[in-house]
Parts: sequence; C-alpha cells; structure tokens
Amino acid sequence: MAQLADTALAEALRARGLRVTPQRLAIARAVRELDGHVTAESVFGHVSAGMPGVSLPTVYAALELLQDLGVVRRVATGGGTVVWDGRVEEHHHAVCRACGVIVDVDAALDPAAVTAAAQAAGFVVDDAQVVVRGLCSACRRAA
Ligand SMILES: [Zn+2]
Ligand SMILES: [Zn+2]
Repeated sequence: MAQLADTALAEALRARGLRVTPQRLAIARAVRELDGHVTAESVFGHVSAGMPGVSLPTVYAALELLQDLGVVRRVATGGGTVVWDGRVEEHHHAVCRACGVIVDVDAALDPAAVTAAAQAAGFVVDDAQVVVRGLCSACRRAA
C-alpha cells in the first residue's frame, strides 16, 4: 500500500518534470503515517530523525508541492496555524476552540452559493471548506 502510494507520487512528480527525491517521498509518507491533521513542524519532527538533510523550509515547500499534486490538502482551520490533511477527498472540519483538536466532519454540502459569492467578490476560488468551531467532547467534560 505504502509502496503503491510512493509509486503514484513518483509518477505524478515525473509527469510534471519534477525530481523524485527521497525527501518528497518521505514527507508524503509522513503525512499518511501521522494519519490525521498535521503541521509542517510535526512532519518535520517525523522525517528529520531518519533524514538529517531535511530542513523545515524543505518541508514547507514539499507540502505546497504535494498540495498542487493533490496528495495532501490544506485544512481551513479558521485560525493562523497551517494544518495539512492526507485525506484529500471532499470533507469539512470541526475545530475545538480550547484544545485545537481537529475532527473530520463528513457532510455533503453544496458549496456553489458561497463559491459564487466569492467569485462575485473577485476571487478565483481554490477550495471551499466549512469550519465548525466549538468545544470538543473532552474539553466539555473537563469544563
Ligand atoms: Zn478540545
Ligand atoms: Zn480532515
């Protein structure tokens, strides 16, 4: 499975005339293995142990590139932190305002109205995601 994903990514990179580097493969693998919503810093922490040449800027650049290739997706958290998701199919997120946990929200939503409104405001739309903000169940129990 991991091998298959590596092969698919290598093909996508080559199709764009980009180099298949061990760093790019390792960074994509880290997003998959960390399984969830990850920051560049946690990806860096995951890959840097086994790959001393990797720097945080390398990770930032690779994540942007992987997003262009459709391998990872930037999560709209509604906050300043950039979070990446290995799950690229359409879904939304709930973000806890106390602990910051991010949970997938699977709901079919038609983003056509918001997309059209954003376009009317002059935007070229990349992506429309819904962010639900609130208090997660663990924080509610602790309160
Ligand atoms: Zn919470
Ligand atoms: Zn997600």
